[in-house]
Amino acid sequence: MRDLEIDGIGMTSRRTRERMIQRLVAQGIQSEQVLEVMRHVPRHLFIDEALAHRAYEDTALPIGHNQTLSQPYIVARMTEVLLARGVLDKVLEIGTGSGYQTAVLATLVGKVFSVERIRALQSKARSRLGRLSLHNVRLRHTDGGKGWPEESPFAGIMVTAAPGEIPRDLLNQLSPNGGRLVSPVGAGAVQELVLITRYGDDYQRTVLEMVRFVPLLAGVIS
Ligand code: SAH
Repeated sequence: MRDLEIDGIGMTSRRTRERMIQRLVAQGIQSEQVLEVMRHVPRHLFIDEALAHRAYEDTALPIGHNQTLSQPYIVARMTEVLLARGVLDKVLEIGTGSGYQTAVLATLVGKVFSVERIRALQSKARSRLGRLSLHNVRLRHTDGGKGWPEESPFAGIMVTAAPGEIPRDLLNQLSPNGGRLVSPVGAGAVQELVLITRYGDDYQRTVLEMVRFVPLLAGVIS
């Protein structure tokens, strides 16, 4: 049976979503896989109902607790960069937030491990992911700066809050066989979006573009 709420109507309809996809193409997103997934993951279910009509705009949106759901272009870009060398089996995400980026990743990779420091956000994300039957996701309420050592190494790591510098623990948990980490880096309001590729003890660093993320903060909030 079709679920009308997931399908969306009016400002959350298929047509509105298609306009978002066309914008992503115009902005340079090339991965057909990423475009196809973002065409189908219902972004409007990852924000409060009062904002649902803005879900497919090209903008970041508030999700409470002073946090934001990244703009569609950034979600697409980071996902495309992470997957540029092929499908990944295990991915670690730092900053579950709304769970939208988690849902996009879960549709494209083997298994997603996602950590969040604010419990209230994690709980909402958990129920949204369950509703969409995304069962290849594990969530943990913890300070993501430490990663998820028991599950390492990860073929991919995506950081969705900005650290001043990439935490050593995350670099250590990246697969030494070409593992890829994408993260905003910098202490200011504007940061560099960085790709790290690991081969053994060699970490290659590429700066992709400038971005605006909320800061990666230490400690947890229950
Ligand atoms: N990927 C999210 C983006 C949310 S914004 C989405 O699609 O909605 C960044 C998130 O990172 C926030 O929820 C914030 O609470 C979380 N965060 C910040 N510092 C963190 C840390 N040290 N460990 C885990 N999560 C963190």
